[in-house]
Amino acid sequence: MTDRFRPVTLGALAAGASLVHGFSPRRILDEKGQCRELDFGRDAGARARKGDTLSYLRALGISGDSVFGVRQVHGDKVHVLKQAGVSIPGEGPVEADAVVTHLPNLPIAVLTADCIPLILYDPRCHVTGVVHAGRLGTSLHILSKSIAALRDNYGSRPADLIVGMGPGICGACYEVDEAAIEPFRAGYARWEQWVETRPAGKYLLDLFAANRDDAEQAGVPPLQIHQTGLCTSCHNDRFYSYRKEGARGRMMALAMLASR
Ligand SMILES: [Zn+2]
Repeated sequence: MTDRFRPVTLGALAAGASLVHGFSPRRILDEKGQCRELDFGRDAGARARKGDTLSYLRALGISGDSVFGVRQVHGDKVHVLKQAGVSIPGEGPVEADAVVTHLPNLPIAVLTADCIPLILYDPRCHVTGVVHAGRLGTSLHILSKSIAALRDNYGSRPADLIVGMGPGICGACYEVDEAAIEPFRAGYARWEQWVETRPAGKYLLDLFAANRDDAEQAGVPPLQIHQTGLCTSCHNDRFYSYRKEGARGRMMALAMLASR
């Protein structure tokens, strides 16, 4: 018996079977029926992480054993993966917060715990991307910069893109201060639609809505932007939440183009 491992998926990204994708859960049942936690973060230890990665890949029906990732720095750099290579998610060697590629059968991934994990897919050009969009990355428009990277490198049109948002912290759970809101005021014309003012200089920031705004402004049709509706903090039993519990672990958002 193998692990009972149920990644969260989005129907819109799975349609057509051209893309394999998943957002990893916090816990799985192992082969002995024991509930255990998965952790893809740097602190998990190389051996445990390798085992968890293999379980995850098998659960997604992927036969390989490696995943390409970047060292995430809450910035706005998009890595264009044009040659097959292996790099452990969360460790680099490339510093970036998004990866886009045209290479089939090569899983790419980002790690999150509250930050919004995003997966992009263009069925016309058959290219994909994964994006780590936390507060800083979102304020820097990491999603629209990833959409621009797909356009500039592969001729991808925003009108054809499917955007999938995985589990992340919801607007009701994410209270921030004035300094955190300032870059959104400066960088987003419609920021007031997804920032709620609270007493004592506090604000509620909806990162899902902010990323939706960023994608729409970049030209992605609203009906092609999807989300799981799952909050990492509201559903802390199912996902890690950095805000709620500190650095307990990281989840992996993974995408892989199928051959076609
Ligand atoms: Zn929530």
